[in-house]
Amino acid sequence: MSIGERIKEKLPLSSTEMQQIMQQLVEYMQAQFAEMMERITVIEKNLFENSKTENDNLREELFQLKKDFVVLKQQQYKELSKIQSCLIEINDLLQEKCIEINQNTEQKKKDIIKTIHWRTDRLEEIYNRHTPRTELSFEVALAEHCNLCCAGCDHFSAIAEPEFADIEEFKRDFARLSKLFNGQAQEIHLLGGEPLLHPDIVQFIQTARICFPDAVIYITTNGILLQQMKDVFWVACHDNKIVIQPTKYPINLNYTALETLAAEHGVEYRYFGNTGTTIKTLDKYPLDLMGSQDARRSFRLCHRANKCIYLQHGKLYTCTVAPTIRHLNKRFGLNLIESSEDYIDIYSAKSAQEILEFLACPIPFCKYCMPEKIKRGIEWHQSNGILSEWIL
Ligand code: SF4
Ligand code: SF4
Repeated sequence: MSIGERIKEKLPLSSTEMQQIMQQLVEYMQAQFAEMMERITVIEKNLFENSKTENDNLREELFQLKKDFVVLKQQQYKELSKIQSCLIEINDLLQEKCIEINQNTEQKKKDIIKTIHWRTDRLEEIYNRHTPRTELSFEVALAEHCNLCCAGCDHFSAIAEPEFADIEEFKRDFARLSKLFNGQAQEIHLLGGEPLLHPDIVQFIQTARICFPDAVIYITTNGILLQQMKDVFWVACHDNKIVIQPTKYPINLNYTALETLAAEHGVEYRYFGNTGTTIKTLDKYPLDLMGSQDARRSFRLCHRANKCIYLQHGKLYTCTVAPTIRHLNKRFGLNLIESSEDYIDIYSAKSAQEILEFLACPIPFCKYCMPEKIKRGIEWHQSNGILSEWIL
């Protein structure tokens, strides 16, 4: 095997291997030089033994050989240094490639693991969606309308006419749910629209706590009105262990002051989602106005299903869309149908289990949703009150 072939086989080379190869090349050249020197010595020796003419010829030959020797030596050293720099270059290149290949392989491995985790999470989510919850968590709007009006608001609060929750109905509904669920609920979100718009919010806070003594009760708000809230509100939040849960919007609002205000009243304050650390963006949940989607499929893919459970007028819904669609219908003269199969009446339901099982099933209204077409990360902006904010 030639030196070249051996080098090829070993690439990329370590510095020791590189030194060994260079050593071999030098030895090879030295062998060539030695052979030439031997011939020169033989000729020189013959010079003393031959006739003048022969000697002249030999001298000529010797002279030529010496010249050739010098040229060969120069050429060989030139070649040698060329080979050496080529080898260094190839080796560096290969090492770079090896690093690149290793990095790519590592990245591919990470991507595959990420995909596996993502798919596992999705499967788990789908499974959870179709599995009755063990504990009730739900949302209830104290005001349908809002003072911020985000584009594409998925409660349609940006286009809702002013409408407040009725405290008597609220008391009845909460008492009924409390009875069905033995006063147990995991989380309750008092929201809207904007819940702080309700002039009697304190009564809602007190009722919610009386009916569900151990639940985590949030006031989910845009925070704009927090600094105007009276002491009685803060006292009620404190006494009833309410968590103030503002979404941090990219608006001119001093959130640090709000945090301080809550702390001063001894009220827990937690930002919604990850908006405390990242800039809030919008998600667009497009609706199919023709209702031609496969309801089961939409439910399966929907992250709001059996999660954003919504109480309204004595009925529980698996999500917020069907119960609030009336605002969109009214504003744009549409007719997306919310039927009696889209909710469970908490007064007709015979048990908590019946309710939890209902909430884990698709509803006819799902045919209007296209969860796979959700557009996320849209820069936050206020609504222009146009239909395109809710359709493709
Ligand atoms: S603040 Fe909340 S309720 Fe109000 S418009 Fe924005 S998303 Fe809708
Ligand atoms: S109606 Fe739409 S948002 Fe509600 S559960 Fe069905 S697919 Fe999800």
